Amino acid sequence: MISEKNSSGDKRYRSFDSYMKETFGKKGVRAALDGGFGCPNRDADGNGGCIYCSSRHYGIHGMSLSAQYDIQRAKLMKKWGSDVIWLPYLQSGCSTFSDIGTLERIYSEALNLPGAGGLIVATRADCITDETADLLKRINSSHFLIVELGMQTAHDRTLKLINRRETHEDFIRGYEKLDGIKTVIHIIDGLPGEDEDDMLSTADELASLSPSGVKIHMLHVLKDTKLASMYLGGEFDLPDEKTYVSTVVSQLRRLPAETVICRLTGDGWSDELIAPDWTRNKFRVLNDIDAEMRRLGCRQGDMCGVTPAGVGN
Ligand code: SF4
Repeated sequence: MISEKNSSGDKRYRSFDSYMKETFGKKGVRAALDGGFGCPNRDADGNGGCIYCSSRHYGIHGMSLSAQYDIQRAKLMKKWGSDVIWLPYLQSGCSTFSDIGTLERIYSEALNLPGAGGLIVATRADCITDETADLLKRINSSHFLIVELGMQTAHDRTLKLINRRETHEDFIRGYEKLDGIKTVIHIIDGLPGEDEDDMLSTADELASLSPSGVKIHMLHVLKDTKLASMYLGGEFDLPDEKTYVSTVVSQLRRLPAETVICRLTGDGWSDELIAPDWTRNKFRVLNDIDAEMRRLGCRQGDMCGVTPAGVGN
């Protein structure tokens, strides 16, 4: 587990950047790759997947991992230079959704990419079988490995509404199989039908799981999704930037101080984004979160365990 001291620099939360510097002494840069994986919720029976899911791929679909990696590194090097730790990031689809032989081959290829300092595997909790968990544990014993799991919300009524086709209990079952592996849990704020109390109780539930890391995303309404039809049909509203900043700050206060905060805004796909428009300015949102924490004089974890979780409905 990620358990080193909390050293967030000038941030009032433990950032991924500070964690990578504690661990490797340098910046960690994630190179998003498409391992060619599908998703059981999208592909298996034409069910359509989560209502916010875009068919867009991270990485470059149909290209070899090494070719994608070369392209990504060349692009990222212009921003971060070459003195960084490269982390191949299997981000597209559910990167454990295949047979064990295929998973072993793809993970090994990713770990052997030039300069790779580890591997990040993003997936759904219901795609973690006992066999997959064993493979990930074997890799974890000799390499730097992070598994990212989407929880999205702790509320089953919302999971049903967004067509996640996974209950919170299903999520917990998959999460527990990864015991001993650094696991980063994703949640989404602004989901239809959720108010601030719902989002805070999701944070309380997250805190009770003590994950190694967390990613908090604002819901993005993307073109050609079921969510877009609902939004354009006036079925729900999205929080404004101020409300999102205030909710995220309250969530950070509820999370354990040692949990690494790997993301606080999504990377918008500007050509596909319908709303909210304010998410296009990622740095302003991050600065506003920092400013709000300074204004309140608060830190990540200073309200951890204060509010009891109320989840499951
Ligand atoms: S689990 Fe991920 S890839 Fe699958 S349908 Fe939902 S958002 Fe799309």
